Amino acid sequence: MSVLVYIEHSEGKVKKTSLEAVAFAKALANQTSEGEVTALALGTISSDELALVGGAGASKVLHASDSKLNDGVIQAHSTAVAQAFKSVGAKTLVLAKSSLGDAVAARLSIKLKAGLVSNVVELPKTDSGYSVKRSIYTGKAFAESLVTTENKILAIKKNAIDLKLDDSKAAVEEFVVTLSESDFASKITATERATGEVLLPEADIVVSGGRGMKGPENWGMLEEMAKILGAATGCSKPVSDIGWRPHHEHVGQTGVKVAPTLYIAVGISGAIQHLAGVNSSKCIVVINKDPEAPFFKAADYGIVGDAFEVIPKLNEALKAEL
Ligand SMILES: Cc1cc2nc3c(=O)[nH]c(=O)nc-3n(C[C@H](O)[C@H](O)[C@H](O)COP(=O)(O)OP(=O)(O)OC[C@H]3O[C@@H](n4cnc5c(N)ncnc54)[C@H](O)[C@@H]3O)c2cc1C
Repeated sequence: MSVLVYIEHSEGKVKKTSLEAVAFAKALANQTSEGEVTALALGTISSDELALVGGAGASKVLHASDSKLNDGVIQAHSTAVAQAFKSVGAKTLVLAKSSLGDAVAARLSIKLKAGLVSNVVELPKTDSGYSVKRSIYTGKAFAESLVTTENKILAIKKNAIDLKLDDSKAAVEEFVVTLSESDFASKITATERATGEVLLPEADIVVSGGRGMKGPENWGMLEEMAKILGAATGCSKPVSDIGWRPHHEHVGQTGVKVAPTLYIAVGISGAIQHLAGVNSSKCIVVINKDPEAPFFKAADYGIVGDAFEVIPKLNEALKAEL
């Protein structure tokens, strides 16, 4: 018996959120005596990269390397995961909560007759029943869900577990999936990648600017900070509405929801709709010249000051330090 983990990868690397899912599965397997953790990777990626998943706790990685699986076609991925689930005799599937993961998990809950809990933040309580804590209302509250099915699917919220990787290597085995025409009923005909070195939804650090930045010409200092920190850039809604920044950088209730380790908000007031997209961040730093700005209430650290004075100094200090 195994706990199966569906892992996602991008540009030849396993996503950090999938490594977190593996680490979560390992902790779960230890708690419930469900045996080892087996990961499943779909599409083209090197065996050396997949072996590193062992560092998060997987003993084995099944690799269905068929290039038809590269595009993340949801039906095909669901079919492949269902076949792997049965093949390893799993009762629990763990995956990272993501747009692809959510779509695949929803189909799998039907295929596998499995109870699905998404946005999971903690290991389940299994003393009496199987109770899973999940984040709801964009991180403002938690719910406990009781799962009563034999098969279970848990989609793990980013940063729900502290990821510590060691040097262990997983055994990588080819896994042959039987796919039919109907698995490719929808086709991805073109993909337009968001520009920027670090993608916002997956970024570990986000440097975000609001209307306080006064205009697009002033974003250079935020981009410089993002470059120093290896961060993605984000912005408030009005900033993208006016066209200062591209729409895919808009963070909040109606934009991208981020959960980085560090969110730096510069010249953003902290309206509730913006906070809805950032309140799962581990640490929030707010830089605003108005000490009454609502964002300070949600901040772990705050600097009351003019962004045009603070940011250049901060960038110099960061350059000296990093
Ligand atoms: C249905 C709905 C959905 C919405 N969805 C979203 C969403 O998803 N995301 C989102 O962001 N907003 C959203 N909004 C808009 C939201 O309500 C706010 O209007 C918006 O977040 C404000 O953006 P801002 O903080 O950049 O601008 P402002 O509210 O104008 O704040 C600018 C801030 O910059 C500070 N500032 C000014 N100059 C400086 C300086 N030199 N140095 C430092 N600080 C300075 C000011 O003190 C102020 O706090 C939504 C609104 C509605 C009604």
